[in-house]
Amino acid sequence: MKTDLSDVLIVGAGHGGAQCAIALRQAGFAGSITLLGDEAALPYERPPLSKDYLSGEKPPERLLIRPAGFWGERQIDLVSGCRIASIDAAAHVAIDAEGGAHPYRQLVWAGGGAPRRLNCEGGTLGGVHAIRTLADVDELRAELHGAASVAIIGGGYIGLEAAAVLTKLGKRVTVIEALDRVLARVAGEPLSRFFEAEHRAHGVDIRLDARVETLDGDKGRITGVRLAGGEVVAADIVIVAIGIDPAVGPLIAAGAAGANGVDVDDCCRTSLPDIFAIGDCAAHHNRYAGGARIRLESVQNAHDQAQTVASAILGHATPYDAVPWFWSNQYDLKLQTIGLSHGFDEVVTRGEPASRSFSLVYLKQGQVIALDCVNAVRDYVQGRALVTAGARIDPARLADATTPLKTMLAPLDAAQQE
Ligand code: FAD
Repeated sequence: MKTDLSDVLIVGAGHGGAQCAIALRQAGFAGSITLLGDEAALPYERPPLSKDYLSGEKPPERLLIRPAGFWGERQIDLVSGCRIASIDAAAHVAIDAEGGAHPYRQLVWAGGGAPRRLNCEGGTLGGVHAIRTLADVDELRAELHGAASVAIIGGGYIGLEAAAVLTKLGKRVTVIEALDRVLARVAGEPLSRFFEAEHRAHGVDIRLDARVETLDGDKGRITGVRLAGGEVVAADIVIVAIGIDPAVGPLIAAGAAGANGVDVDDCCRTSLPDIFAIGDCAAHHNRYAGGARIRLESVQNAHDQAQTVASAILGHATPYDAVPWFWSNQYDLKLQTIGLSHGFDEVVTRGEPASRSFSLVYLKQGQVIALDCVNAVRDYVQGRALVTAGARIDPARLADATTPLKTMLAPLDAAQQE
């Protein structure tokens, strides 16, 4: 089957794809737009999946990025349940898994990522779950009422958020982390230790330096996680939260440059003609990572890159240059991060972690590169200017939580902000 030519074909109807379609129409793009995704649901927000949707506090209709009628009203052709399997970049055609052809003038790839699976024995047993899609969480929730114990493999944001929710739901939760601290990939040690202590205080059993050997089962269903050394952590449900692999197979097969994701330039163009890529799968040079090519997995990045592509398609290209920010909710703790702490050589604590309201300020060669703020919205808001300016501030001053961060920006740094 061959569909009509789309002026813009967007593959992936998640955060980035949906935002790109919205941004194009908001900016007055009058051509045809197809927003095509392989999930059954209307475009929805992913962050609640490990937070208040998992807990049952947020109903599914409140996850929607826009109400159901929005897409038709804006003449955005929404195609659900359709997976693109290959791309003929020279012919400007994407081919779906049923062999249907989707011709385009410009293509925006917003495929996100697929959760990494455990490839050990037992990885496909019943009761082993991921948390990436609405369908994943609906399946998980359907099994929860009959489960007393949950083992979560991976102590990153998603694993810890799920641990907080499931503990509150009365489950016996064990977090199994291969490294020597939780959040090791994204935060400094003081933050890791703070969250470990919080989870333990709520009854979560946190296992560090713990390597999974196999998943044990009985009659096709999970019964426990066997660790290196032989100990078995009993579990009625296992959640595997060990990160994603960027979903870029068809692009790479079509010849796009990339290794970890697909490489894009500062306007999110891939190396293939008229093909852009945005969001979790787009490997871009980021000045907040010292210019290194990285992928960011955040709603902010997906939104901002969508905006960048919409501008480029409309002919007024504006390079992507946004300061990264993230958030995570666990119990009554709101963690907000601004900047990227990777590569820091000094970390300053503002405030007392014991008060459950404090910030960590990360420095690299004397420059502020990032902040992690726990129940400290003011630091988060004011810290943005320090990160954007790469401000140089005496660590002793930064540590003084009674002095607002906004007063610390030197006139030179402040001038750069304007
Ligand atoms: P996605 O939103 O994943 O959308 C990609 C879509 O493309 C998916 O629907 C996928 O199925 C589809 N697709 C893939 N390949 C194909 C194909 N070949 N054909 C058709 N369709 C395809 N970020 C934050 O900033 N804060 C948070 O608190 C936060 N919490 C999170 C909690 C969870 C549980 C998860 C999973 C993510 C969270 N994130 C959070 C990350 C954030 O959701 C992602 O960074 C964001 O969704 C990325 O948007 P995207 O458009 O790149 O990918």
